[in-house]
Amino acid sequence: MFFIFGTRAKQIRGENTSTMLNCNYCKSNGTVVTLAKFRYFHIFWIPIFAFGLKRITCCTHCKQLRNSSEIPQDELITINQIDFKTPRRYYFGSFLFMMLALSIITAITLENLQISRDIKNPEVGDIYEIKFEENGENTYTIYRIESVEDDVITFEVNDYQVNSTIHVDDLKIDHKNDYSELKEVTPSELDAMKNAGTIRGIDKVDI
Ligand SMILES: [Zn+2]
Repeated sequence: MFFIFGTRAKQIRGENTSTMLNCNYCKSNGTVVTLAKFRYFHIFWIPIFAFGLKRITCCTHCKQLRNSSEIPQDELITINQIDFKTPRRYYFGSFLFMMLALSIITAITLENLQISRDIKNPEVGDIYEIKFEENGENTYTIYRIESVEDDVITFEVNDYQVNSTIHVDDLKIDHKNDYSELKEVTPSELDAMKNAGTIRGIDKVDI
């Protein structure tokens, strides 16, 4: 059957399977090896993480399998000393998610650093992506710097708004000259806007 995600069982050999036990079923000597089984969660055949490792024994002669509840205590002590390591590839998906999360965090950090740098150096024509709330919903527009003085930066406020970040770029193209309102902001207010997450990005004017 076809499953997009789910769990699967896997059986592995230990680091040291030379600890051979005797078989109490077929009475062969030194034919019982210790194995481990675990389950792993997968999405589209990519293993995400492994769990539930249990030791089992298998007789290489009669093929009898025993799980830990069927193994006598003295043998359990022996087989519990065998070291089993779940192969790293069964955590591959977790590794991928971690790398993805790290790259997203890095990208956000770099973007924030860039915004911090850009607001210290405002220039006429810079375009700021602005996020605000309207009727409880995130709304986005763009501001364009109209003039810069020491203690005040004057922005032109775009007449149009969008409700998704992916459409902000449309404003820059479709409404690039549709500004009518002006807004004066001091450098410290600009800092506060940045810290509040109001400024989502800055396009520096092409020189
Ligand atoms: Zn056997």
